[in-house]
Amino acid sequence: MKIRVVPDLCCGAQRCVAVAPDVYRLADGYNVLVGQPDWEVPAGLEPQALRGARACPESAIKIIEDGS
Ligand code: SF4
Repeated sequence: MKIRVVPDLCCGAQRCVAVAPDVYRLADGYNVLVGQPDWEVPAGLEPQALRGARACPESAIKIIEDGS
């Protein structure tokens, strides 16, 4: 599973970090993955990654399932 954060959508609400602190990090209040290549979620953290994506009020976090 990979994650992509859409730059124009991330508004710095920080909900992702609040619910999934082991997966998401902030830089200047925004998700550090903004503008970065798709990031491979470490094994075992997929549920937390999904929780963070669902918590984002802007739907800025896109989940890319393996094989898609
Ligand atoms: S990815 Fe979503 S929840 Fe996380 S900082 Fe950006 S807008 Fe907020």
